[in-house]
Formats: sequence, structure tokens, C-alpha cells
Amino acid sequence: MQSKLIFPQLSYVGLGVIENLYNEVEKLGVNKIIVVTEKNLVDLGICSQALKSIPSTYDIEIYTEVVPEPPLQTAEKLVKYIKDQKFDLVIGIGGGSALDLAKLGAVLAANEGQVKEYLNLTGTKQIKQKGLPKIMIPTTSGTGSEVTDIAVLSLEGTKDVVTHPYLISDVAIVDPVLTMSAPPKITAATGIDALTHAVEAYISVNSNDVTDGIAVKAIELIGMSLETAFSDGSNEKAREQMSTASYMAGLAFYNAGVGGVHALAYPLGNRFKLPHGESNAVLLPYVINYIQKGCLEKLADVFLKLNREVQVKSSPEELAKGCVQTLFKLNQKLQLPTSLKEYGIEEQHLEMLTEDAIKQTRLLARSPVPLHREDIYKIYSAAYEGK
Ligand code: NAD
Repeated sequence: MQSKLIFPQLSYVGLGVIENLYNEVEKLGVNKIIVVTEKNLVDLGICSQALKSIPSTYDIEIYTEVVPEPPLQTAEKLVKYIKDQKFDLVIGIGGGSALDLAKLGAVLAANEGQVKEYLNLTGTKQIKQKGLPKIMIPTTSGTGSEVTDIAVLSLEGTKDVVTHPYLISDVAIVDPVLTMSAPPKITAATGIDALTHAVEAYISVNSNDVTDGIAVKAIELIGMSLETAFSDGSNEKAREQMSTASYMAGLAFYNAGVGGVHALAYPLGNRFKLPHGESNAVLLPYVINYIQKGCLEKLADVFLKLNREVQVKSSPEELAKGCVQTLFKLNQKLQLPTSLKEYGIEEQHLEMLTEDAIKQTRLLARSPVPLHREDIYKIYSAAYEGK
């Protein structure tokens, strides 16, 4: 089997690795730095904790006009700002929202035109310039944005992405210490996001032996640690395992792709403002249930990695069914909604959601079972009813 694999040039992963930030900044020989982050993370002290190794002689501007699930306008504003101010390094500190904007800002500030012209679904321009160097520092264990070449933006009716290998960070610093303050709800939603990345990468039609190995280890780590990180956020071991798993799930899905869960989740985020992790979480069991026949053996593996105490005596069909139940129960244990009804979504909205989801051809193409309009509607209906 031949595979093309892309990984970031340099990553630091593990407790305490944030200490390496200054060395990396120094190596780049830069002085004027923009830090793209959120006000919430500045107020919580996470931003200063991340930057503490950098001496005060550096000219650092903290840009906090980041909002969760950032809309296109927020990205346009940031890109214009970076173009005008002439920075020489971009550091992203935050969850996927801040990191996606930071990556986009670093690259598009060196390319002509507006962000909307580079969108995957409707854009017409190609990225030509690499842009500024960028260091990405996640504060959630979820998106894997620090290793992907993707920036996700919220648009009217759906989400769209800008993708290009130039968006991959030059340095990823993945330190669980920066995730310790994440409250249980965010830990749960981002943790299921990471699990969704790993599971969808594993069952993707584009998966290969390398991505499979990474995805399976990520699933195992999440099985070992997500519930503990949720119930005891100060547990360093659980936070570290989640942080590593999120990074690995990012590597796996960036190279193998995500599929139906993400395609159906994007419209939930946009139309009903569900956070990205929660929209994946509520759909994950239903999409997997629907497509299980196309990936029985792999779902059996997922089940066994999430339930390490179980002895293998059952058939792949039974284990795949067990996998769907495990995913459903995990949402319950993490106190996440398990049906669309619980989000105030009504039956009459399912048609609109289906119309939006069908446009995500890039994602739907990776599903191990083809998902057409009627399939998508059926999955939304099951998720709406909660059964
Ligand atoms: P987020 O970045 O939107 O953050 C959610 C909330 O968590 C925010 O209010 C933030 O302030 C808070 N938060 C973050 N870290 C915290 C911490 N350590 N302590 C306390 N609070 C903290 O959430 P996210 O799920 O990480 O990112 C979602 C975004 O990432 C979406 O726009 C999604 O589409 C995108 N995404 C991108 C990729 C990619 O490959 N680029 C992959 C998946 C998702």
C-alpha cells in the first residue's frame, strides 16, 4: 500500500513542553510578534502562562478579537490587521477557534485578496505565498488544529474551510498544563471531538496502515482518560493522555480525512450554534450506527479499545453494535445531549439540515458507506428522536 503522509515539521508534546517556546522564537530571529488568542484565555492567565519564557524585550501584541466558531468576518478583520501591522511571527494560543484564525492570518496576510476568495466551496483563488512563520499552542484537547492545514470558518447556513499545506504550523507545542482549566463541559465536547477525528480517520476510505496505527492509539488513550479528565480536571495524567490523543487524532484525520459525522455536524454548528465538539458528539453514535456494515471489523477494534476490560468472544457484528452503544453511553456519562430534540431542533428543520449537509462533498466522500440525501435525512431523524 502506498501512502502520502504530511506531518508538522516540529512538535513538542507532553507535560511542561511549553518551556520550549522561547528557544523556538529565538531560532526564528523575529522580534514583532502577534499572539492570536481569546480574551477568556487572557483573563484565565493561560496566555501569560504560555508566554512566560519570552523576555519582555520582544515586541508582543496580544490580539483577542477571536470568538468561538469564528465567522468569516472575524478572519477578514484579522488578516487585514496583520497585513497592515507587518508582524514577523504569529503565535496562536487557544482552542481550534484561535488556532484556525492564527494559521489563516499568518498565511493570507502574505496573499492578495480577501479570505472569502480562498474558501473551499466557493473560492476562486489559490494560495501562493507561505506567509509568516507560525507556532500553534492548543489549550483544548480536541481539534488537532495545531497539526492540520485546515482553518474552519462559520458561514451563513454552513461551515467552510481554507486548506493549504502552508497552513500547517511550523512548530506545534502541545502542553496539557494549558488545558487544566478547561471546564467539564468543554473537556467533554472537545474530547468527543478528538474521538470523532480518530474514529472517522480509522474508518475513512483514505485510511492507511500509518494513520490506522495513530488513530487506534488515540482511541485507546481517549478510552483511558476522557471520563477522568471530565470528572477531575486537575488529573495531570488524564489531561496529558487527552492532550496526546488529540494531537494524534489530528495527525490521523489530517492524513486520512473525516467523514459523515463532520458533514452532518457542520450545519448544526451553523444553523443552531452548537459548539463544534457537541455537534460531533450528538451525531457520532447515529452516523456510526447507520454505516456500521461498511466497517464492522474496525468498529469492533474501536469497541475493544474503548472497553479494554472486555474479553473478545463476540462476532465483529456484535462488537460493532457494542461500539455504537459505547459511544451513546459515553455522551450520557459526559452529560452531553443525546438527541437533536434536546437542542430545541424541530422535525421541520431536518430537511434544511439535510440540504446543508449534502453540500459537504469533500467530507462525505470519505465515508465507508456512501451517504446520499435519503441516508442523511434518516440519520438526522434518528438523532432527532434519540434512538
Ligand atoms: P474553541 O476554540 O471554540 O473554544 C471553546 C471555548 O473554550 C472558548 O470559550 C474558549 O475560551 C474556552 N477554552 C479554551 N481553552 C480553555 C482552557 N484551557 N480553559 C478554559 N477555557 C478554555 O473550541 P475548540 O473545540 O477547541 O475549537 C472549535 C473550532 O475549531 C471550531 O471552529 C471548529 O470548526 C474548529 N476545528 C478546526 C479543526 C482544524 O483542523 N483546523 C478541526 C476541528 C475543529
